[in-house]
Amino acid sequence: MAKILIKNGRVWDGERFFYADVLTDGDLIARIEPNIDEKVNYTYDATGKTVSAGLVDLHVHMLVEKDDKYGIQAEMSCFPFGVTAAADAGRTRGERAVLDSFMLKNLVFATAHIRENKADLPELEETLARFGDKAVGIKVYFDSTVSEVSDVSPLAEVCAFAKARGLKVMVHCSNSPVPMSDILDVLNPGDILTHAFHGGVNTATDDGFKSIREAKDRGVVIDSGFAGNVHTDFAILRQAMESGVLPDCISTDITKFSAYTRGGRYGMTMCMSIAKHAGMSEEDIFRAVTRAPAEALGRADEWGRLKVGGIADIAVIDYTDEGFSLTDANGNHIESPCGYRCELTVSDGQLVYKH
Ligand SMILES: [Zn+2]
Repeated sequence: MAKILIKNGRVWDGERFFYADVLTDGDLIARIEPNIDEKVNYTYDATGKTVSAGLVDLHVHMLVEKDDKYGIQAEMSCFPFGVTAAADAGRTRGERAVLDSFMLKNLVFATAHIRENKADLPELEETLARFGDKAVGIKVYFDSTVSEVSDVSPLAEVCAFAKARGLKVMVHCSNSPVPMSDILDVLNPGDILTHAFHGGVNTATDDGFKSIREAKDRGVVIDSGFAGNVHTDFAILRQAMESGVLPDCISTDITKFSAYTRGGRYGMTMCMSIAKHAGMSEEDIFRAVTRAPAEALGRADEWGRLKVGGIADIAVIDYTDEGFSLTDANGNHIESPCGYRCELTVSDGQLVYKH
């Protein structure tokens, strides 16, 4: 069984930072302690870098079916950014067997289409059955440009359906026909609002972040779903940070169209850089890409943490000369000569990426 030793880094175990070496043995973490001296197959010096639990992306679009317009080749767009587990956020077609073939750990949100202001529950039942226990929740495009939605009733129906089956609901809200507060009011604890800081109609600023604050307090998960510069308004994001309203999770919403066309290498590490630029602390950022999304997906025991005896999923992250330059749909520009970069990714004890 291969052993990897990562030395001299600042460890993020999902909950806190501390200095230690990390040793893997096979697909598990064998030791996390200072000054490990052991004969191994591969040693990496992580001086000045963060040795994090593998990152978890709550919102991606994976290539699962051959005529998929949006899907990315999941491993190619996740491993180079430290992501070792991801959730496909919105799927009706495709086969579970394809997801099972990925080394990247994955789950699925099944899409509930809304037609004539009604959720298509029979289609949803079929999708859920096809994906079995890969289906962690239900995605609703509460967006009048892509769904025939006019009020909150179809969402309320989906939330009741999901709650009865122990599933989560993830709501895309960027062109919602109703105020964000109406959406948040029908979500149950554990449900997710993605694109929370969008700059379309009915934004989080309409009530000065009051409804987001209240929803967070009762356990609704607030996800950034950045999509680079598409579903994020950088002025609103900064205002949110200044008001102390942080996203619980930072996710990419990466697709074929965002992966290679944002100002810089687009992936989870750029999303972390955007959050840092907006004023989020390192501790909050690392929690929002490990522990928090693992919890939101109901996988907190296995994913998003580094612990002895746990799965050897590791991301070594540096803050370095990885710059970015982005302008959002409302013309707000952000750029920085620096940003986060993934230096090394280990999945199930296997080295799968090295910068
Ligand atoms: Zn999306």
